Amino acid sequence: MDLIERLDAIERDALASLGGTLDADALERWRLAVLGRRGSLAEAMKGVAVLAPSDRPRAGERANAAKQSLEAAYFSCLSSVKASARAHALEAERIDVTLPARARPTGSLHPVTMIRREVEQAFARLGFTSVEGPEVEWDHYNFTLLNIPPDHPARDTQDSFYVQGGTGEGGEMLLRTQTSPVQIRTMLAHKPPIRIIAPGRTYRNEATDASHEAMFTQVEGLCIDKNVTLADLRGTLTVVARALFGPHSEIRFRCGYFPFVEPGAEIDMTCHLCHGSGCRVCKRTGWIELGGAGMVHPRVLANVGIDPDEYSGWAFGCGLERFAMLRYGIEDIRLFYENDVRFLQQFA
Ligand SMILES: [Zn+2]
Repeated sequence: MDLIERLDAIERDALASLGGTLDADALERWRLAVLGRRGSLAEAMKGVAVLAPSDRPRAGERANAAKQSLEAAYFSCLSSVKASARAHALEAERIDVTLPARARPTGSLHPVTMIRREVEQAFARLGFTSVEGPEVEWDHYNFTLLNIPPDHPARDTQDSFYVQGGTGEGGEMLLRTQTSPVQIRTMLAHKPPIRIIAPGRTYRNEATDASHEAMFTQVEGLCIDKNVTLADLRGTLTVVARALFGPHSEIRFRCGYFPFVEPGAEIDMTCHLCHGSGCRVCKRTGWIELGGAGMVHPRVLANVGIDPDEYSGWAFGCGLERFAMLRYGIEDIRLFYENDVRFLQQFA
């Protein structure tokens, strides 16, 4: 029978042309050509209707079988095409998880903070507690109790930042010019023995240059007990200088005057670069100035209710920026507070 042979041929040829195609466009063209409304199978099936009634069942059966077979082949091929497309997409979007990540920028400690922590650790090993106090202070604590009389040049408005309208029971209000008021507050609150350091920001109204800033960071130390002497101070500062600047460091005192100590001394340390033989940093002297010190003035002890006949004590004050400048070879104090990331990153 012609029609049945034609259906056989359509099925055979269509299956052959489908082959192993994995191309979505080619598969769609095949579907339209074979299974579409005007496709070869539909055209052939029109022939069933015009057959003699006795021949129709066989031909119809064959046509349906061909249709099922071709549709099955089509869907099988379609799922292969989809799987292939998905595999391609996965390959194209592959992420290499072994690639190193982009580094996130992180902050780091400020050089003055790092030095401050080192100083605190060195003193902590000697039994000193680190104490803080207000940066806005009464002149009573900043000056008067420290034996700085009202006519002293340190009170001159040229040297201090006063707070407008800031007057009260403590006198006038100002940005503290030293961390000594923390010593005063500690002595008022605690009975001897006292061993503290007082690190923190201080403020002076002066012109800035490579070695002067209007704001800088001090660390002061205070030791009050029975039979405390200048030798204890020198020993303490030597241990700390060696912790910060190396085992060759030595400390010497030169006479100095500060109203809150008697006797007073300027503290020098052997140059950490030339160990005393003389270089550019120590201006050929072999010594580097660190700050001021002395035995706490008996009048200061009496001011805070400590009996100067029973107790004695020493105190010192140094600039932490100066320590950082010596340690890292920084030549201009203003660099610390310009917040230039290129400068700060060097200490990360
Ligand atoms: Zn030197």
